[in-house]
Amino acid sequence: MQKLRLILGDQLNTEHSWFQECDKDTIYLLAEMRQETDYVKHHIQKVVAFFLSMRNFYSTIHAQGHQAVYFQITDPDNPQDLEKIIAACIQKYDIKKFEYLLPDEYRLDEQLKTICANLKIASGVFDTEHFYTTRHELSDFFEGKKLLLMENFYRTMRKKHHLLMDGHTPVGNQWNFDADNRKKYKGEVPVPSEKNFHKNVSEVASQIQEAGIITFGNITETDFSWPTSREECLEVLDYFCRNLLKHFGDYEDAMHTDEKFLFHSRLSFAMNSKMLSPKEVLETVIAFYHKNEAEISISQVEGFVRQILGWREYIRGIYWKEMPNYAQLNALENHNKLPNFFWTGKTKMNCMSHAINQSLDEAYAHHIQRLMVIGNFTLLTQINPDEVDAWYLGVYIDAIEWVEMPNTRGMSQYADGGIIATKPYISSGSYINKMSNNCAKCHYNVKEKFGDKACPFNTLYWNFLDEKKEYFKGNQRMGMMLNLLKKMDPEELYRIKVKANAIIEDMDSL
Ligand code: FAD
Ligand code: SF4
Repeated sequence: MQKLRLILGDQLNTEHSWFQECDKDTIYLLAEMRQETDYVKHHIQKVVAFFLSMRNFYSTIHAQGHQAVYFQITDPDNPQDLEKIIAACIQKYDIKKFEYLLPDEYRLDEQLKTICANLKIASGVFDTEHFYTTRHELSDFFEGKKLLLMENFYRTMRKKHHLLMDGHTPVGNQWNFDADNRKKYKGEVPVPSEKNFHKNVSEVASQIQEAGIITFGNITETDFSWPTSREECLEVLDYFCRNLLKHFGDYEDAMHTDEKFLFHSRLSFAMNSKMLSPKEVLETVIAFYHKNEAEISISQVEGFVRQILGWREYIRGIYWKEMPNYAQLNALENHNKLPNFFWTGKTKMNCMSHAINQSLDEAYAHHIQRLMVIGNFTLLTQINPDEVDAWYLGVYIDAIEWVEMPNTRGMSQYADGGIIATKPYISSGSYINKMSNNCAKCHYNVKEKFGDKACPFNTLYWNFLDEKKEYFKGNQRMGMMLNLLKKMDPEELYRIKVKANAIIEDMDSL
């Protein structure tokens, strides 16, 4: 019996049980398609990275003796649409059964269910064998609970998977080292340069252009840095352990104008494409830590484990718990448009200029740049979360809806009304000043609230609190801020609001 097995672009797990044995009656299918390149405008590096990783995956399984078909984006017989591609293969290879792996995106999950319902042959669906948790494990964990606290979920995961545990006690006698992980980076330890593969990707970049795919962002075609095979991803992991782990936790929240990546791992694409599994990443990191305890403190390692075992699994669980409604949420009723400088990087705000230009140049920004600079700005300027989501989904190399949307719409924009965050992640310029060196060289003055040179984050912050005070009045965690607002001189607040409205009216002049 001929069996067709679909592998989506973010399912590049060569270690999956499907590939443990070669079966002459099974054909694997991989396809680059306009359906996937066009649902949002993507960064050019993201499209290049996915296509190259898919091509390398195909070569690997083919070399192992598996039968596989691959549609390149420019192939004349490529129907560019999942349903049509599956139908064409079923007919061409006289397929009797179709199988696929559980997609991580709601959109594709629905599409594949519909495709299978319409097929005249049998079909089956299998787990991707990637995550620690099943799709609905988080929903079951929080069943009947009002607050979906990540911390509770994370501690249970640590115990369940026995990671960084000493019997029933967490290693280091503490679950959480967050308080130690908030250092400002002042150049006291050198940051190793990022692991760069210096690849020439001109061929695939030309094919993307030839196919007419509209992308944005920048690329140096002769010097592509991202890993696009399992071997390269393993090199990035090894590089992280040897060079970056020892300061990862310390500078997790820091930003610096000379250091785009600081001590971050840049492993999100490797994991989100499933070339690496979170389990092997954490097991490797923890084993490295145990061998090097004299040099690496527990707070660095716990910080890293928390991101992957905690946040990454939690975010995925929220996505499957809340979709499809989650995609429509706009609790704060924000409707403004994203300014043009998100596509050009042209702004006088030093922090925004660095974070956006870096995103356009590298298809990457680290967590605090995404949350406390760019996301903070879009929330304070009350941009429509649909627009914010689309930008984040397009720009970052690791952006796939299951992880992008709860982080952006939920954690960063509070559009879910507090499912993820108990209060909005907003701040005036003082937080950015505390965690970075941006303000020292900025056109604006971080100490001022109004006037031509006032830091826009200051003006927008107080205006946001005033505009949303009714919405947040019952939120205890916002009490202190709202009290300060209440005590503000009405004349001063009026001037702030006039200035904030002028900013929002003409964001591109910032
Ligand atoms: P490191 O700082 O080295 O962290 C290690 C790993 O932890 C990451 O590779 C990632 O897999 C995981 N991780 C850390 N934080 C989170 C988180 N909040 N949610 C899920 N995983 C996490 N991450 C994505 O993978 N895709 C996205 O589209 C995405 N969009 C985001 C949007 C916003 C507004 C925010 C605030 C965060 C977003 N994140 C997203 C989470 C985080 O910013 C990235 O995972 C991280 O910056 C990737 O870089 P890194 O691999 O160097 O991470
Ligand atoms: Fe950003 Fe304001 Fe600091 Fe300028 S002064 S870098 S706009 S926080």
